[in-house]
Amino acid sequence: MNAYSIARKRMVEKQLLARGISDPIVIKAMQLVPRHFFVEAGLQEQAYSDFPLPIGHKQTISQPFIVAFMTQALLLEGGERVLEIGTGSGYQAAVLAQIVRQVYTVERIAELARTARRALDKAGSYNVHIKVDDGTCGWEGQAPFDRIITTAGAPQVPLSLKSQLTPGGCLVIPVGDQGSQVLKRITRVGDERYDEESLLDCRFVPLIGKHGWAEGGTC
Ligand code: SAM
Repeated sequence: MNAYSIARKRMVEKQLLARGISDPIVIKAMQLVPRHFFVEAGLQEQAYSDFPLPIGHKQTISQPFIVAFMTQALLLEGGERVLEIGTGSGYQAAVLAQIVRQVYTVERIAELARTARRALDKAGSYNVHIKVDDGTCGWEGQAPFDRIITTAGAPQVPLSLKSQLTPGGCLVIPVGDQGSQVLKRITRVGDERYDEESLLDCRFVPLIGKHGWAEGGTC
């Protein structure tokens, strides 16, 4: 075992299992993905620490616990097609790619998408497909999706995302103001009927786009 594998094992024990992450497929994925591939060279020593890290363009790679919590909240069984909004470093997509069949991920900042692609290839996550676009509109050409995960905070749940869910599918999304949000799970229970659950208080960078925040801050 090298130093990174040891740090990863400790991360899983101290930050995930100890705080109630219990889904074995999530634990296994978090144990496997080399998180240090997804941070810049100067921050690799901190890759398994208990906090988010900067990835440039005022964006972050989320704290390991949040990545695990959101992945668990998707109630995955394996075999799903998943849409992620907010590729960022590509780490969340790599974790999902260990579990599901295909991951489609949308990032609005082209340079982040390019860096994420390189890291995903290095990690062998070839079932991840990246598009540079406004993810608040979803990914029409690949819809519907069994699951959708949004890793940036939205002012409200975009109908454009809910409507790209398969029947019975769910969307996990932080919703609130720009300072703090509540992580919600929206399940499609009928053609135009959705159930909503509140899961966790959280703090994400803003989801910016047509059905999110305007660049300046108001929706
Ligand atoms: N999932 C990422 C990871 O594993 O590193 C973390 C994502 S970071 C907290 C949020 C990301 O959402 C940023 O990269 C940001 O540029 C992106 N973002 C914000 N609004 C977006 C939009 N409308 N469409 C696509 N990406 C968006």
